[in-house]
This record gives sequence, structure tokens and C-alpha cells, in this order.
Amino acid sequence: MRNLVSEANKPLSPAQSSPLPPAMTGVASLCSARRVAVFGGTHGNELSGVALVGLWLQDGAEIRRRGLEVRPFMANPRAVQQRTRYIDTDLNRAFTLENLSSAQGEDLPYEVKRAQEINQLFGPMGSPDAYDVIFDLHNTTSNMGCTLILESSDDHFNLQMAHYIKGAVAPVSCSVLLNDHPHLHYSTTRSVAKHPVGLEVGPQPQGVLRSNIFESMRLIMKHALDFIELFNEGMQFPPCAVEVFRVSERVDYPHDSNGNITAMVHPSLQDCDWEPLNPGDPMFQTFDGRSVEYKGDCTVCPTFINEAAYYEKKQAFVVTRKETLTVMGIRVSNTMLSKK
Ligand SMILES: [Zn+2]
Repeated sequence: MRNLVSEANKPLSPAQSSPLPPAMTGVASLCSARRVAVFGGTHGNELSGVALVGLWLQDGAEIRRRGLEVRPFMANPRAVQQRTRYIDTDLNRAFTLENLSSAQGEDLPYEVKRAQEINQLFGPMGSPDAYDVIFDLHNTTSNMGCTLILESSDDHFNLQMAHYIKGAVAPVSCSVLLNDHPHLHYSTTRSVAKHPVGLEVGPQPQGVLRSNIFESMRLIMKHALDFIELFNEGMQFPPCAVEVFRVSERVDYPHDSNGNITAMVHPSLQDCDWEPLNPGDPMFQTFDGRSVEYKGDCTVCPTFINEAAYYEKKQAFVVTRKETLTVMGIRVSNTMLSKK
């Protein structure tokens, strides 16, 4: 992990040398996070983020924090204007090295040009100049509630932030979806930042604003920015454990030889995001009423169930496995603190 100085190998006092795994006992010193961006409208028909970023572009008082630059940004303005997910191609899959390094030209898809602009403004991806944190605000039509989407189980800053947010909003739940799968991981808009954070809130239809979803997203962002401010100001966050749902598989709808869907999400699975699905449980219902059972070898937790935007991606739901990650303690490195 970048800028991480591990102190896990320091001698432990007797009180600390309890049977905690090594990762539980370490405290990492990390650079402060001074430059933060909040993206809305990466998908132009996901209106909570569009509305919040629009609001904060007019008046940023709500997202201002001491010692932080917090920049609201409309990621795909043409798609927002047309109230559509994208113009030419999905912006949230466009941040491949190939796209970012391809020669600029008028014939490039709009979102590829936009990805290059965003990489210039907030990156370059993987460089020391990149923004510290990018929050990317999304809505889902699935019944997922509030979900943080993280891309690495090694990013202890993001995992500590998730732990803080979960504690702050309890008893309301905020799930953590971890997508570090080598084949199912995709090239997100937020991946330009050192610490990419997706915030997915649903259920909300495409092109619709619901006040409860809007306020949930707003609340998560408040706690997220509070966390960064506290971290920068020297608060130490002790080692902790975070429950995550790790992406393991993508499941498509049954279809015929012409590619037409032949079954729907089963009523006993519909809206049951994050709940256990056991081998033998029904997952689809054909148009003539037959059930199609899940044939995996263990209990899993589906999510993004029946997401409208994923029909084109041939995906009925994502399979995850629930696990608990041990997270290192973190504190801001003293050198950065003294530069304040
Ligand atoms: Zn989205």
C-alpha cells in the first residue's frame, strides 16, 4: 500500500502479545488526505449523486472540512443532461490503461475523452499527484441499502473509514462490498484516486429522486468527511475488524439460443440482497413457472439483484462471500502533521 509505514514488527508489550493475528496489532502511519473529490453523475440517470453534487457546486459549506480541499464534480455532464447512464460507453468501465493512454482525438467515444480529462484533473492514476480520496456517488435499483464499494483489502485507510461510517450510522446498516476479484474487477472512475470509494445507495429507479435515498447518501458522505478530518487532525484509529462481502462470481439470466432472457429473478430472491442463498435455493423463475435452483457448492450472499443497468452486462446478480477482515490501526504520520 502506498505511503504506509508498518510498525507491526515492533516488540509488543505483554498486554499486547495476546493471540491477536499480526494485522490486528499493527498501527500504520499514513500520509494525511488533503485532496478529496466527490463525483456525482458518473451515471447520468442516478439522481441522488447528481442532485447532491449539484447542490454542493452551488454551495459547498456542507462538505467543507478544516485542512481539506473537498471538490464536488459532475463526472459525466452530457449523460446528466440527457438523464441517461452514458452517451457512448459506460464511464465507470472506461478507466483502463489503454483508454487513458490512447491518443486524443475527436473520434474517441465521449466517455473515453471524459476519462482522459478526469485523469488529468484528479490523477494521473497511480501517481503521487493523484487525489487522495475520490467518492463516487451511485444509485442502484437493487434493494442494497447503503453500500460502500472498496477495491482493495489492503487499503487500511478505506477499511478504517468503512468501520467508522458503520459505527456512526448504526443501527442502520452500511454494507461493504469488496471487489478485488482479478476478472470481475472493473476500471472505475474513482480508481484515479489513491483511495477510491464507491457509494451505492438503493433501491431507487433510474431517473428518479427519492428523499430517503438522497438523505441516506448525504449522511454517509457527512460521516466519511468527518472521518478524514479527524484522521488528518491526529486521531488514532485502533485495529478493528470489518465485515465485508467479497465479490466471487457474476450470474447471468437464463436465455435462449437467440440471447433472449427466459426467466426472471425468483420471488424468494428478489429484494433479498445480502441475505444467504444456499445450494438448492431457487434463484430464477421461468415464464412458465418453473424454478431454477442455485447450484453452487456453499452458501453465498447475492447482491445487485436484478439491477436495471446490468441487463446489458448480462448480469442478474453478483455472488459475494461474507468475511471479516482484520484492519490495522492507522494514524497520520507525524511529518505530515507538522506541515499543517
Ligand atoms: Zn452507477
